[in-house]
Amino acid sequence: MIIKFLLFIDEMAELNTSLSYYSLNHQAPDVSFAEATVTGQAPDKGLYFPHNIPQLPKGFIENIGRYAKEEIGVTVMQPFVRDSIPANVLQTIVGETVNFDFPLVQVDADKYSLELFHGPTLAFKDVGARFMSRCLGYFNRNSNRHTTVLVATSGDTGGAVANGFLGVEGVEVVILYPSGKVSPIQELQLTTLGQNITALEVRGTFDDCQAMVKQAFMDEDLNKKLSLTSANSINVARWLPQQLYYFFAYQQWQHTTPPVVCVPSGNFGNICAGMVAYMSGLPVKHFIAACNANDVVPQFLQTGEYNAKPAVATISNAMDVGNPSNFVRILEMFKQRGLPLKDVLSSYSIDDTTTAKTIKDVYQQHGYMLDPHGAVGYYALGEYLKQHPSDKGIFLETAHPVKFPEVVEQSTAQKIPFPESVQYLTGRQKLSILMDAGFGGLKEWLMNR
Ligand SMILES: *Cc1c(COP(=O)(O)O)cnc(C)c1O
Repeated sequence: MIIKFLLFIDEMAELNTSLSYYSLNHQAPDVSFAEATVTGQAPDKGLYFPHNIPQLPKGFIENIGRYAKEEIGVTVMQPFVRDSIPANVLQTIVGETVNFDFPLVQVDADKYSLELFHGPTLAFKDVGARFMSRCLGYFNRNSNRHTTVLVATSGDTGGAVANGFLGVEGVEVVILYPSGKVSPIQELQLTTLGQNITALEVRGTFDDCQAMVKQAFMDEDLNKKLSLTSANSINVARWLPQQLYYFFAYQQWQHTTPPVVCVPSGNFGNICAGMVAYMSGLPVKHFIAACNANDVVPQFLQTGEYNAKPAVATISNAMDVGNPSNFVRILEMFKQRGLPLKDVLSSYSIDDTTTAKTIKDVYQQHGYMLDPHGAVGYYALGEYLKQHPSDKGIFLETAHPVKFPEVVEQSTAQKIPFPESVQYLTGRQKLSILMDAGFGGLKEWLMNR
């Protein structure tokens, strides 16, 4: 009896070390970090979520100023990765993921910009894409499994994924983007890399691209022929490393009271990662989800009713999402802890007129150039701080203004110079495959190549 009991504990310990993710639909088995990364989504179509949000080691926060970015990255990510990746490999992956700057820049008396656009594709998605690509490369290292990453993009995701996965052995990347609806830099980032990256230029909208990808994941013939995975923020290996921004921000925070943190949000992956960091012990006073006209979450926090809607187009188009996929993860986290969400999260919806005026005002008054997503964040943070005048806050500047030149140049009457880091793109030859919207064409192309 006692022996049996001990065995049982042993099995539990085993479960706790590797099978640390469950499906939010509760109809699929638990999996390791490796399996969650390779499959993306659970077989019951649920998102994977960790059984336990780890607590940071004692003294880590008090001493955070002493740590290098890589040390912070390994400390934060190790409990999520567990034995899926050995320590020395994780260290290399993290080192390559965060090898650029994440400066915190003061914009006015009570607002600071956390600049997340210093990576290779000039938007915050670089960190998640770089981490995930290297994990997948590691998991495929000894197998002849060939993974096809299929991703729809309105602009930033595709570039970050293409750049992150370029040259990764055993991984083929297929990016669908809406023809004529991405900015010139974004298109160059998607279509000029070659090697294992293919860009499909779809005659349609971002929603069309997304629908084609979703159908592909459910198609039996395709799944028999290919090992398909997604590289958007439903994938834990892309979602969880985004926590690191919040630690890098706190490391640079000079005030004694913790910051209010405002996150321009679309699919709610980034802010959800920030909340995981908070649950694990990172000091944050309050979170704000800054949304554009796509206001499902602000409405939900006001009325208690969650009504998904079709996305509407705005000038902060990376946040044009009508049914944010990661919001269920936020709800689950608060359920796990038994905490009321409203104590920790507020949300505002900011319209395009206000966004454009904010870009103009902040440039004129403070000489700081915002991109449309950062502008939504700056304004929402200001709204909150008006009600909480003794607080100070950080907004995440999620993309470089040069990625959205039309809006920014119109609002500031300034030409935005092409940053040196992307000058290599100019003059490169665009390579894309034109395709009609609709699943038929995509399936035929994937089956026959
Ligand atoms: C993707 C993106 C967002 C939204 O991030 P989510 O994690 O989807 O909420 C905000 N700003 C920019 C520039 C983006 O590319």
